[in-house]
Amino acid sequence: MSIQAIILLGAPGAGKGTMAEAIRSATTFIHVSTGDMLREAIKAGTLVGREAEAFMRQGELVPDEIILKIVMERLERGAPDAQYMFDGFPRTLEQARLLDAEFARRGAKLINVFLLDVSREVSLERLGGRLICRRCDANFHVRNIPPKTAGVCDNCGGELSQRPDDSRATILKRLEVFQQQTAGLIAYYAKRGVLQRVDSSGPRAETVADIMKRLQ
Ligand SMILES: [Zn+2]
Repeated sequence: MSIQAIILLGAPGAGKGTMAEAIRSATTFIHVSTGDMLREAIKAGTLVGREAEAFMRQGELVPDEIILKIVMERLERGAPDAQYMFDGFPRTLEQARLLDAEFARRGAKLINVFLLDVSREVSLERLGGRLICRRCDANFHVRNIPPKTAGVCDNCGGELSQRPDDSRATILKRLEVFQQQTAGLIAYYAKRGVLQRVDSSGPRAETVADIMKRLQ
Protein backbone atom coordinates (compact mmCIF):
# COMPACT_ATOMS: atom_id res chain seq x y z
CA MET A 1 0.00 0.00 0.00
CA SER A 2 1.10 3.53 -0.66
CA ILE A 3 -0.19 6.98 0.06
CA GLN A 4 -3.29 7.98 -1.87
CA ALA A 5 -4.77 11.42 -2.29
CA ILE A 6 -7.71 13.28 -3.72
CA ILE A 7 -7.89 17.00 -4.38
CA LEU A 8 -10.90 19.24 -3.85
CA LEU A 9 -11.29 22.32 -6.03
CA GLY A 10 -14.36 24.44 -5.49
CA ALA A 11 -15.67 27.64 -6.95
CA PRO A 12 -16.87 30.26 -4.45
CA GLY A 13 -20.28 29.12 -3.26
CA ALA A 14 -19.72 25.49 -4.28
CA GLY A 15 -19.69 24.40 -0.64
CA LYS A 16 -16.16 23.02 -0.58
CA GLY A 17 -15.94 23.24 3.23
CA THR A 18 -19.16 21.30 3.70
CA MET A 19 -18.08 18.67 1.18
CA ALA A 20 -14.68 18.27 2.79
CA GLU A 21 -16.34 17.71 6.16
CA ALA A 22 -18.81 15.20 4.69
CA ILE A 23 -16.05 13.21 2.98
CA ARG A 24 -13.88 13.32 6.09
CA SER A 25 -16.62 11.96 8.34
CA ALA A 26 -17.75 9.20 5.93
CA THR A 27 -14.37 7.94 4.70
CA THR A 28 -10.81 7.35 5.88
CA PHE A 29 -9.51 10.39 3.98
CA ILE A 30 -7.60 12.79 6.19
CA HIS A 31 -8.51 16.41 5.47
CA VAL A 32 -5.42 18.57 5.05
CA SER A 33 -5.73 22.22 4.13
CA THR A 34 -2.82 24.42 3.15
CA GLY A 35 -3.69 26.92 5.85
CA ASP A 36 -3.64 24.26 8.59
CA MET A 37 -0.40 22.71 7.32
CA LEU A 38 1.28 26.12 7.19
CA ARG A 39 0.16 26.99 10.71
CA GLU A 40 1.32 23.60 12.02
CA ALA A 41 4.74 23.90 10.38
CA ILE A 42 5.20 27.44 11.70
CA LYS A 43 4.10 26.45 15.18
CA ALA A 44 6.40 23.42 15.19
CA GLY A 45 9.25 25.70 14.09
CA THR A 46 10.48 23.31 11.40
CA LEU A 47 13.04 24.62 8.91
CA VAL A 48 10.45 25.02 6.14
CA GLY A 49 7.99 26.43 8.64
CA ARG A 50 10.47 29.18 9.50
CA GLU A 51 11.13 29.80 5.79
CA ALA A 52 7.41 30.11 5.11
CA GLU A 53 6.98 32.42 8.08
CA ALA A 54 9.66 34.77 6.79
CA PHE A 55 7.78 35.23 3.51
CA MET A 56 4.43 35.67 5.24
CA ARG A 57 5.82 38.23 7.64
CA GLN A 58 6.83 40.35 4.68
CA GLY A 59 3.37 39.96 3.20
CA GLU A 60 4.69 37.80 0.40
CA LEU A 61 3.28 34.62 -1.05
CA VAL A 62 5.02 31.48 0.18
CA PRO A 63 6.91 30.03 -2.84
CA ASP A 64 5.59 26.83 -4.39
CA GLU A 65 8.68 24.80 -3.45
CA ILE A 66 8.22 25.65 0.23
CA ILE A 67 4.51 24.86 0.16
CA LEU A 68 5.38 21.51 -1.34
CA LYS A 69 7.98 20.75 1.30
CA ILE A 70 5.43 21.54 4.00
CA VAL A 71 2.91 19.19 2.41
CA MET A 72 5.44 16.37 2.07
CA GLU A 73 6.57 16.84 5.67
CA ARG A 74 2.96 16.51 6.74
CA LEU A 75 2.57 13.27 4.75
CA GLU A 76 5.77 11.86 6.21
CA ARG A 77 4.32 12.23 9.70
CA GLY A 78 1.34 10.06 8.73
CA ALA A 79 0.97 6.36 8.01
CA PRO A 80 2.66 5.09 4.82
CA ASP A 81 -0.70 3.98 3.46
CA ALA A 82 -2.78 6.97 4.58
CA GLN A 83 -5.39 8.60 2.35
CA TYR A 84 -5.42 12.36 2.12
CA MET A 85 -7.86 14.96 0.87
CA PHE A 86 -6.11 18.16 -0.18
CA ASP A 87 -8.03 21.38 0.28
CA GLY A 88 -6.56 24.62 -1.06
CA PHE A 89 -3.63 22.72 -2.52
CA PRO A 90 -2.25 22.65 -5.13
CA ARG A 91 -3.06 26.27 -5.85
CA THR A 92 -0.80 26.76 -8.84
CA LEU A 93 0.20 24.73 -11.86
CA GLU A 94 3.74 24.63 -10.56
CA GLN A 95 2.55 23.14 -7.24
CA ALA A 96 0.62 20.50 -9.21
CA ARG A 97 3.71 19.59 -11.20
CA LEU A 98 5.89 19.43 -8.11
CA LEU A 99 3.30 17.27 -6.36
CA ASP A 100 3.19 14.86 -9.29
CA ALA A 101 6.97 14.58 -9.27
CA GLU A 102 7.07 13.90 -5.51
CA PHE A 103 4.23 11.37 -5.74
CA ALA A 104 5.93 9.56 -8.62
CA ARG A 105 9.17 9.43 -6.64
CA ARG A 106 7.42 7.94 -3.60
CA GLY A 107 4.99 5.66 -5.41
CA ALA A 108 2.07 7.67 -4.03
CA LYS A 109 -1.10 7.92 -6.06
CA LEU A 110 -3.36 10.82 -6.92
CA ILE A 111 -6.74 9.16 -7.37
CA ASN A 112 -9.13 11.96 -8.22
CA VAL A 113 -9.37 15.71 -8.53
CA PHE A 114 -12.92 16.81 -7.78
CA LEU A 115 -13.98 20.11 -9.25
CA LEU A 116 -17.09 21.29 -7.43
CA ASP A 117 -18.91 23.28 -10.03
CA VAL A 118 -21.73 25.76 -9.57
CA SER A 119 -23.38 28.19 -11.91
CA ARG A 120 -22.82 31.91 -11.43
CA GLU A 121 -26.46 32.27 -10.40
CA VAL A 122 -26.16 29.64 -7.65
CA SER A 123 -22.97 31.22 -6.32
CA LEU A 124 -24.64 34.61 -6.21
CA GLU A 125 -27.69 33.23 -4.46
CA ARG A 126 -25.74 31.21 -1.88
CA LEU A 127 -23.11 33.78 -1.05
CA GLY A 128 -25.29 36.82 -1.56
CA GLY A 129 -27.81 35.55 0.99
CA ARG A 130 -25.37 35.01 3.85
CA LEU A 131 -26.01 37.03 6.97
CA ILE A 132 -23.83 37.49 9.98
CA CYS A 133 -24.70 38.73 13.47
CA ARG A 134 -22.88 41.95 14.30
CA ARG A 135 -22.79 41.02 17.96
CA CYS A 136 -22.03 37.26 18.21
CA ASP A 137 -20.85 36.40 14.66
CA ALA A 138 -23.53 33.69 14.21
CA ASN A 139 -24.20 32.80 10.57
CA PHE A 140 -27.56 32.75 8.83
CA HIS A 141 -28.80 32.64 5.26
CA VAL A 142 -31.79 34.46 3.82
CA ARG A 143 -33.15 31.24 2.33
CA ASN A 144 -31.16 28.26 3.63
CA ILE A 145 -30.84 29.16 7.33
CA PRO A 146 -33.32 31.98 7.86
CA PRO A 147 -33.45 33.62 11.31
CA LYS A 148 -36.81 33.35 13.13
CA THR A 149 -37.26 37.12 12.80
CA ALA A 150 -35.90 38.82 9.70
CA GLY A 151 -32.75 40.80 10.44
CA VAL A 152 -32.49 39.60 14.06
CA CYS A 153 -30.09 37.01 15.47
CA ASP A 154 -31.76 33.90 16.97
CA ASN A 155 -28.98 33.54 19.52
CA CYS A 156 -28.54 37.00 20.95
CA GLY A 157 -31.08 39.32 19.35
CA GLY A 158 -28.30 41.24 17.62
CA GLU A 159 -28.63 42.89 14.25
CA LEU A 160 -27.89 40.75 11.17
CA SER A 161 -26.08 42.19 8.22
CA GLN A 162 -24.63 41.02 4.94
CA ARG A 163 -21.00 39.99 5.01
CA PRO A 164 -18.82 42.67 3.44
CA ASP A 165 -17.29 40.02 1.13
CA ASP A 166 -20.68 39.03 -0.15
CA SER A 167 -21.83 41.98 -2.22
CA ARG A 168 -22.78 41.08 -5.78
CA ALA A 169 -19.76 42.83 -7.27
CA THR A 170 -17.37 41.12 -4.83
CA ILE A 171 -18.84 37.67 -5.51
CA LEU A 172 -18.55 38.15 -9.27
CA LYS A 173 -14.97 39.26 -8.81
CA ARG A 174 -14.19 36.20 -6.64
CA LEU A 175 -15.69 33.90 -9.29
CA GLU A 176 -13.57 35.56 -11.96
CA VAL A 177 -10.41 35.25 -9.86
CA PHE A 178 -11.18 31.57 -9.15
CA GLN A 179 -11.58 30.86 -12.86
CA GLN A 180 -8.36 32.64 -13.72
CA GLN A 181 -6.41 30.91 -10.97
CA THR A 182 -7.70 27.41 -11.61
CA ALA A 183 -8.00 27.32 -15.42
CA GLY A 184 -4.44 26.02 -15.76
CA LEU A 185 -4.85 23.44 -12.99
CA ILE A 186 -8.14 22.20 -14.41
CA ALA A 187 -6.66 21.79 -17.89
CA TYR A 188 -3.63 20.02 -16.42
CA TYR A 189 -5.66 17.49 -14.45
CA ALA A 190 -8.15 16.98 -17.27
CA LYS A 191 -5.26 16.05 -19.54
CA ARG A 192 -3.95 13.64 -16.92
CA GLY A 193 -7.36 11.99 -16.84
CA VAL A 194 -8.01 12.51 -13.12
CA LEU A 195 -10.39 15.47 -13.22
CA GLN A 196 -13.97 14.80 -12.13
CA ARG A 197 -16.48 17.59 -12.50
CA VAL A 198 -19.16 17.42 -9.82
CA ASP A 199 -22.29 19.50 -10.15
CA SER A 200 -22.58 21.22 -6.80
CA SER A 201 -25.65 23.34 -7.57
CA GLY A 202 -28.22 21.02 -6.03
CA PRO A 203 -28.86 20.02 -2.43
CA ARG A 204 -25.68 19.25 -0.46
CA ALA A 205 -26.74 15.65 0.26
CA GLU A 206 -26.93 14.91 -3.48
CA THR A 207 -23.48 16.28 -4.14
CA VAL A 208 -22.05 14.29 -1.24
CA ALA A 209 -23.71 11.10 -2.54
CA ASP A 210 -22.32 11.77 -6.01
CA ILE A 211 -18.78 12.14 -4.68
CA MET A 212 -19.06 9.03 -2.49
CA LYS A 213 -20.17 7.00 -5.49
CA ARG A 214 -17.17 8.17 -7.49
CA LEU A 215 -14.83 7.37 -4.61
CA GLN A 216 -15.89 3.71 -4.49
ZN1 LIG B 1 -26.03 37.11 17.60
